[in-house]
Amino acid sequence: MEHVTAPAWALLAYLVSGVLFILALRGLSSPETSRAGNRYGMAGMLIAVVTTLVMQQLAGIVEILIAIAIGGGIGLVTARRIAMTDMPQLVAAFHSLVGMAAVLVALAAWLNPGAFGIADAAGQIFAVSRVELALGAAIGAITFSGSVIAFAKLNGNMSGAPIILPARHVINFGILGGIVVLIALYVLSGAGGPGEGMLIPIIVALAFLIGFLLIIPIGGADMPVVVSMLNSYSGWAAAAMGFTLGNSAMIITGALVGSSGAILSYIMCRAMNRSFLSVIAGGFGADSSGGGNGEPREQRPYKQGSAADAAFMLEQAEKVIIIPGYGMAVAQAQHALREMADMLEEKGVEVKYAIHPVAGRMPGHMNVLLAEAQVPYENVFELEDINSEFAQADVAFIIGANDVVNPAAKTDKSSPIYGMPVFDVEKAKQVFFIKRSMGGVGYAGVDNDVFYMDQTMMLLSDAKKMVEEIVKALD
Ligand code: NDP
Repeated sequence: MEHVTAPAWALLAYLVSGVLFILALRGLSSPETSRAGNRYGMAGMLIAVVTTLVMQQLAGIVEILIAIAIGGGIGLVTARRIAMTDMPQLVAAFHSLVGMAAVLVALAAWLNPGAFGIADAAGQIFAVSRVELALGAAIGAITFSGSVIAFAKLNGNMSGAPIILPARHVINFGILGGIVVLIALYVLSGAGGPGEGMLIPIIVALAFLIGFLLIIPIGGADMPVVVSMLNSYSGWAAAAMGFTLGNSAMIITGALVGSSGAILSYIMCRAMNRSFLSVIAGGFGADSSGGGNGEPREQRPYKQGSAADAAFMLEQAEKVIIIPGYGMAVAQAQHALREMADMLEEKGVEVKYAIHPVAGRMPGHMNVLLAEAQVPYENVFELEDINSEFAQADVAFIIGANDVVNPAAKTDKSSPIYGMPVFDVEKAKQVFFIKRSMGGVGYAGVDNDVFYMDQTMMLLSDAKKMVEEIVKALD
């Protein structure tokens, strides 16, 4: 028996949903078209699900509907309740589910290959199906355990600092090599099902372990790359399962997710000046103590100002560059910020927003928030497009950002963020730095020399409160 091939109408419907997914990705590439992109994605998914159900003659429809109701209900409640700031860990948690789903499908196919149409009359799984099944199970298991660790790190259940095992590269390569050898053995052995060897469960167990080991050494500023990398893995796991199930929609969707995640990881690596391989091999900033360079932070002198001081100086400025970061998301200060920018523009001040590729806690985090506050897109600039303008800026207005303006990335080789491109805020005539206290650090956990510069004025307060007070003072 060969793979049960879908009827022509179903293949056509899957093709349509594949095209809709491509349109969705295209739409999501820019804030103006992202809503339309989401709609294309939803339509594509609806077509794919309905096609699959109808093609299977609605077999087990009651159980499926109950499962959809339970899963969909949990998803709906979670999506409504989740705070914008917890989005990154939610994404990591969802990736882990995709990984687990791939493992479960692989195990089901391994236990009952006949039902999946991947075995001959004697119950032997076809060689090509063994490749797909073993790969899907392994990638799925890595995605699952890696995403669970990423979730724990982003959610604060685990320290964001890298955990470095001695000889970790030897251990990791040993386990990865072991998985590859076992998959080869499984494919070549002709083992049919569970009775003929426990290779698949062993592969799955080792893959769970390696997912865990690969992610624990990654800390601080490299987490964004990990999140997009796991996103990519989840896609490849789904694609491999698409082959096992003979489902072209799953293959197309998985490959799209896998390749777009890989491209995003590559872009993030370039943005952070990291080599992709070394992030995967793990363990940047191994010696991050959180203390940063120089003297302990309490003892270094800094200047503190008030909203009224800030408003006065902002009014005098000709050019202001705003650098939003994670703290703006925590405080939900984007609306007040836009109001402030509007008032300054009315007074003839030029206002621009500078977005670092890893600002916040997920790719595009700042763009989403600024779009929500209807900040005009033409005022929003990427790092490489605006970094040269700080020298002409009167005020660099840092709101809830920290790591992305830390000059240690340029000067301190021992810093966990060393090598990451950062905004040259020290070139601006004045720097306003909004954060809640001198004690708080950024995600990478290091001190920041910008706090102590001559031209820096610390505005210590919740970001939203501070900006609202500045708005009042400008009035
Ligand atoms: P940081 O995490 O470096 O700094 C956040 C700053 O916001 C801190 O100074 C904090 O200080 C302040 N803050 C927090 N809450 C508030 C509040 N309510 N009001 C005012 N200030 C507040 O943020 P960045 O955006 O600069 O950098 C992002 C970091 O996160 C990078 O290291 C990046 O690698 C990492 N990361 C990014 C991901 C992504 O995809 N973008 C994913 C995972 C990690 P205080 O506590 O004193 O208020």
